[in-house]
Amino acid sequence: MDFSALNKSAANSFNQQKSLIKKVLAGKKVKCNNCNTLISVHTGADSVMIKCEKDCTDIKLDAELLK
Ligand SMILES: [Zn+2]
Repeated sequence: MDFSALNKSAANSFNQQKSLIKKVLAGKKVKCNNCNTLISVHTGADSVMIKCEKDCTDIKLDAELLK
């Protein structure tokens, strides 16, 4: 696997992810860019997951960051 390419695309999508996370956490209805299902928030003990129904959007947030 070419990790440099992976890192580059991760950096490119970081701002996109950040604005998506903001919208979802604000209670707005956001759809996954990939599968077009609704993205929802799953709160765990020490983390918050932001997922679409098919799990192609699957973002894990450290709960500490949200306090
Ligand atoms: Zn999806």
